[in-house]
Amino acid sequence: MNLLLLSLLHLPEVRKEIEISHVSCDSNYRDICDGSVFKCHPLFMTQCKAIQIIAYFDEVEVCNPLGSSSKKHKLGCMFFTIGNFRPHLRSRLNNIFLISVVRSPLVRKHGMNAFLQPFVKNMLSLCHDGITVKVNSLECQYKVALLAILADNLGAHAIGGFKESMSFARRICRSCMATTEQIQRDFCELNFVLRTPREHERQVSSLSGTDSAQNSIEYGINRKSVLDDIPNFSVVKNLPHDIMHDLLEGVIPYEMKLLLQYLVEKKYITARTLNQRLKSFNFGYSELSDKPSDLDENIFKGNNDKKIRQSASKMWLLAIYLPLLIGDLVPQDCEQWELFSLLLKITSIAASWVIDRETVAYLSVIVEEHHYMFKKLYPHFTIIPKMHYMLHYSKQIQAFGPLTCTWTMRHESKLNFIKRAASHGNYVNVCYSVTKRYLQSLCYNIHCDTLLSETLQSSSYDTELCNMNLPKELQEIVNATTENTTVFPLKWIKFKHFNLKKNAFIYLDKDEYYPKFGKIDNLYLIQRPNKKLYILYMQVFKTMYIDSHFNGYVVELSPIYEALNIKHLKEYPILHGHKAFHNSLNSYIVVKQSIM
Ligand SMILES: [Zn+2]
Repeated sequence: MNLLLLSLLHLPEVRKEIEISHVSCDSNYRDICDGSVFKCHPLFMTQCKAIQIIAYFDEVEVCNPLGSSSKKHKLGCMFFTIGNFRPHLRSRLNNIFLISVVRSPLVRKHGMNAFLQPFVKNMLSLCHDGITVKVNSLECQYKVALLAILADNLGAHAIGGFKESMSFARRICRSCMATTEQIQRDFCELNFVLRTPREHERQVSSLSGTDSAQNSIEYGINRKSVLDDIPNFSVVKNLPHDIMHDLLEGVIPYEMKLLLQYLVEKKYITARTLNQRLKSFNFGYSELSDKPSDLDENIFKGNNDKKIRQSASKMWLLAIYLPLLIGDLVPQDCEQWELFSLLLKITSIAASWVIDRETVAYLSVIVEEHHYMFKKLYPHFTIIPKMHYMLHYSKQIQAFGPLTCTWTMRHESKLNFIKRAASHGNYVNVCYSVTKRYLQSLCYNIHCDTLLSETLQSSSYDTELCNMNLPKELQEIVNATTENTTVFPLKWIKFKHFNLKKNAFIYLDKDEYYPKFGKIDNLYLIQRPNKKLYILYMQVFKTMYIDSHFNGYVVELSPIYEALNIKHLKEYPILHGHKAFHNSLNSYIVVKQSIM
């Protein structure tokens, strides 16, 4: 890890990205540096250019999970990202760095602490001595601190020394002392005793006494984690909950199954209708790779253990578009439907890139409301541990910024690299093979300057447009200078995480109540002798109202056109316009992340 950080710090663009602070100037949360964990950290309070480490742990099956060697070749992997990088750069797979790989059977044999020990030793040395780089014959020292370790619930409990089986343990939460019984009746974080580093230390020390087995059950702790040896790090504070595993792979499929079963039982829908509509739904170009798969018809029948099986990103799309797919068949006053709409609202706030302080407080209110309604409408079904973890989201945003700063969505994609790297060849020393291939790819990325490069890409262009044929908004831009200017039409532009094409919707602005969107009509390159301007020419759509039954903004085309320089795009994902089934009058824009 030291060598890797040293190589990265030799790159001027990495040093620049680390040294420029991007703490928000207003009171909104945009990144991990807007949270209290960063702001109250003794190192970052005094040294703003100190390096923030965000680690990630997970296990990955590198051969056929149904085959005879499945568990034998499971690998435990530790990665890290640099928290100083802005979120869109951190989410690039090239900027998720591998630290260690181990065969899982070895972890089971020697214990998790043995696996974590080298990492802890490394972090201790980095915390105390930092890293010194020579820049223009001057020595620059960068101190380093660990801000958080991300993992799924099983992984977080394993590395933190907590009980790993959340279904059977008495205490199911690493943030509080919740029991399986208490989570069924209390839905406000204030009603739970939060774990604190000091109390955790006391509980851990009680595991070595005569009542160790009883205390282990009572406190939900298996052992002391060596991670607690890292300065200003505690397993009860720095292992945040992950909305990808909690919501997209947990609560949403759980509740959606109950909803679909209810709708089928009431004869509002059939499994075939939903699957047929899903097949014919017109997903936007940026959504096609995550188009949900058909649902197993057995899911819709009562009393079965089958789960809705979709990847997290497919599940997310299915959830947000379910109202447009079957909303016309469901009565407006269906409480189960309203409950699901509330869950979608919670998810959209939880997945936001920017969150204001009022919304943080509001989130805990609607989570509580959701759980009460769930218990009322599905009295025979339990509040699962992942639903309880939602109670801690508001506090987590205050500590670590938006929940997307600590989710594992991109890290999970990085695991595909490990699978691919392990699949080339034999499994004699699979950890060595994976590490070697990873280092080769890292060298390539550093050599090709792909880590932080923000180069804009566009389709090829050769047909020059005549000024007379341009819309007036564009003519104004062209005429604003006396420089020799040529204009070219473009088919697409890729910029940061935006893949812009015709007909995509862009979030433009918000008035007092509703957002304004732009539908890309054309894309242009305006070329001057020393400058290139990339312009989106858009039809403006105004929001008429929010239709919560269909989970979308109802928008209407306005006579206004706007030309927007791509550099002024708001940090918000690309959207698409849709129609609901049997309602061709309204155009809907469905958002994944709530617009603040
Ligand atoms: Zn809890």
